Amino acid sequence: MSARVRYRGGFRWDGVAVEGYKPEGSHFRDVSRQVLFGGEGPRELRYFEVEPGGWTTLERHQHVHEVMTLRGRGRALVGEEIVELCPYDLVRVPPMTWHQFHAGDDEPLGFLCLVDRERDRPQRPSEAELADLQRNPAVAELIRGRA
Ligand code: MN
Repeated sequence: MSARVRYRGGFRWDGVAVEGYKPEGSHFRDVSRQVLFGGEGPRELRYFEVEPGGWTTLERHQHVHEVMTLRGRGRALVGEEIVELCPYDLVRVPPMTWHQFHAGDDEPLGFLCLVDRERDRPQRPSEAELADLQRNPAVAELIRGRA
């Protein structure tokens, strides 16, 4: 097996399967996942792509996300903060911090995400936690219909 995996263009790599974002659930829309580095090492590097108008699950967990956007534009909720995303921006999601990634309306948002291979299960917000997040009007607008 070669040390190199060839890039094929179009945010695809030789032998890397384009998978569904998560095996089940309905709290996300139009997201695909490719595992670029996985298996043996202590870390995994994934490439996620959110289609225009799509979003990832609003969730939190102990494990950290280290993200670099590669493609398109969008926004992310990280804790109380809404950040605009452009290619090559870096985003760190600390432990137990609510987060969600949104593509813009007219282009996909593609990003690399580095995580520990062994990681805890994501938690979804309870009704009370959701109400707490929605106290911030900008956050309420961002996650409306998407939480
Ligand atoms: Mn997450």
